[in-house]
Amino acid sequence: MVSGKKMLSLKDLYIGEAAEVVFLDSRENQDKRLRDMGLREGVIIELVSYDSLINKKAVLKINETILALGIELIENIRVRPIKPWYNFYREKAFHDTLTGCLNRNAAFLILAAEYEKAMSNKIPLSVILIDIDDFKKINDTHGHTFGDYVLQQLGGLLRKNLRRTDMVFRWGGEEFLIVMRGLTVGESYIVAERLKNSVYFIELPDCGKGFLKISAGVDGVPPYVNLDELLERVDKALYAAKSRGKNQVCTFFWRKYSEAM
Ligand code: GH3
Ligand code: MG
Ligand code: MG
Repeated sequence: MVSGKKMLSLKDLYIGEAAEVVFLDSRENQDKRLRDMGLREGVIIELVSYDSLINKKAVLKINETILALGIELIENIRVRPIKPWYNFYREKAFHDTLTGCLNRNAAFLILAAEYEKAMSNKIPLSVILIDIDDFKKINDTHGHTFGDYVLQQLGGLLRKNLRRTDMVFRWGGEEFLIVMRGLTVGESYIVAERLKNSVYFIELPDCGKGFLKISAGVDGVPPYVNLDELLERVDKALYAAKSRGKNQVCTFFWRKYSEAM
């Protein structure tokens, strides 16, 4: 038994997160359906996917066995998370080997699940799209290996500066996508500003501090747009930050002012 850690309902787990099963009373312990599936007090499960709105089911992994649970069973299960962070980080298929961030494949999977969760639980979800300024010039001047080092440094800084529940993906070449559960657009704007400012302190060989600069776009739900729209909007916000002169953060709504200029 892992003690002292917060007990959660199954639907509060993050995709890829591992947890210990806790039964609240003996009645649940005696539920034959759970027992037959190997879901006993103390068993370690991993949440593979969670889809309450459409299929009303959770997919779990117990000792490499995959189980799909209906909503009536999900409600009965309480868990204690045991790992500090995403298991996805350990799986090569979802991992960007250069930067240590989650990759684009993982982004689509996790974003879809987090978006659905945000909608059904009526909690905000925000995204920050970050792009290194003049990265081509950095590569051209200092070489591709130096460019790779810059990507590693930035990936590490982003992960270190965020909460356990925030997710950092390498979205493309020198673009990183951050997904933040529970934060409004206004709150994640502040986070993006903080990240932009902390990039200043990345110290690069022969270049020192203040060499690396980034631009960022921010958007989120609510307002309720679909996931494709959300990604389009954050891309437009980033584009606006670039066209306003780079090294700055712009939200989807503020971009209007730069388009009018
Ligand atoms: P902007 O400020 O407008 O973003 O300009 P930029 O030069 O950063 O953007 P551009 O899209 O012109 O160049 C991106 C460069 O990123 C081009 C590509 O060679 C480089 N790149 C993409 N992936 C990698 C990588 O894994 N390693 C390195 N070193 N460079 C990469
Ligand atoms: Mg780019
Ligand atoms: Mg760039």
